[in-house]
Amino acid sequence: MTIRNSIQALADEIAGYRRTLHENPQTAFEETFASGLVQDKLAQWGIPFEAGIAMTGVVATIEGETNTSGKIIGIRADMDALDIFEDPIGKPHASKIEGKMHGCGHDGHTAILLGAAKYLSENRNFDGQVRLIFQPAEEGSGGAHKMLEEGLFDRFPCDQIFAMHNWPKLKKGTMAMRAGPVMAAADRFDIVLQGAGGHAAMPQACIDPIVIGAQLVTALQTLVSRVTSPLEPVVLSVTNFNAGTGAFNVIADEAHLNGTLRSFNPEVRAKLIEQITKMTKDIAHSFGGKATCVFEQGAYDPTINDAEVAEFCAGIARDVVGEGNVDANVDPSLGAEDFGAMLQKVPGCYVFMGQAEDDVNSPYNQGLHTPRYDFNDSIIPQGIEYWVRIVEQALPK
Ligand SMILES: [Zn+2]
Ligand SMILES: [Zn+2]
Repeated sequence: MTIRNSIQALADEIAGYRRTLHENPQTAFEETFASGLVQDKLAQWGIPFEAGIAMTGVVATIEGETNTSGKIIGIRADMDALDIFEDPIGKPHASKIEGKMHGCGHDGHTAILLGAAKYLSENRNFDGQVRLIFQPAEEGSGGAHKMLEEGLFDRFPCDQIFAMHNWPKLKKGTMAMRAGPVMAAADRFDIVLQGAGGHAAMPQACIDPIVIGAQLVTALQTLVSRVTSPLEPVVLSVTNFNAGTGAFNVIADEAHLNGTLRSFNPEVRAKLIEQITKMTKDIAHSFGGKATCVFEQGAYDPTINDAEVAEFCAGIARDVVGEGNVDANVDPSLGAEDFGAMLQKVPGCYVFMGQAEDDVNSPYNQGLHTPRYDFNDSIIPQGIEYWVRIVEQALPK
């Protein structure tokens, strides 16, 4: 591990911001606390910024000592929390807002980028410009898309963009990335099956939407096994199935199902969206019912790293954590990440930073989006060092 002393010296200050952020979690487009803290610190350090992009988003720009290259790179951190009741055990900095929690470590990502901002504004040891993109609403509400709609890269052009995510499955002191697809596209679907309810003792006079739904859930699973290639990673999960009022003697009128489709290949994605919709309608019709199937698409495009930028990032990661601690060909995840939307506009690379301790019961080893999870402050200097080296080597003097 090679971390310069002047970055190590920021560790306590930045961990303090991380804990303050952890105590004050807010969700999609309501991240006024995080956005306010970011703006206060940027102002205090004399870094120019614009706020109010996609509501709470902030974009700052730091000028290098020189700018003969004219090159600009962007680094993005997400700021939002989740609707989770935190298990506060062992966390003096547990959430003060009931039902909200920084359960994905975006408090850590924001703090690390603030640390890099402070260092880079004091040591402008690069030639060009750096944009710091503090993004709202990563968790399902399309904050990246909203920033793009509001002209992110028209107003703040970037030649390359970078992001990181803490990864509890990887050991502290390791990093991982890959060229090409690293996180999946995620599409949500909502299905309404319209039957005809009635007395449970007279099913012949009804069209039972639960029976239709049961057939449908099973049939949908065959799309992944029989319609797409076994070599294409795809997940189709029906995650909610609601029908009936609780009465045991009434056949319901309607059933509501929803779920998620995860994929990497745009052609497979389009084909499955068409097939899911068709299968839903056809199965409902075959039982005499009706159906609607609505896809909410686009919040999460696949996250596809540029091969050249990924190789560059792997090199930097090796410099920071050591050759043997970098997996430059990590398995992709069928989780999703809205940085993918930015990567469709500007080439870049998204990396994972390990945070697990030897103790498997540590909060740092708990899965993202679980109540006992916590961001591991001891990886903050490593994260800052990584960003600073990305800047210094992507924009060499
Ligand atoms: Zn998350
Ligand atoms: Zn996350």
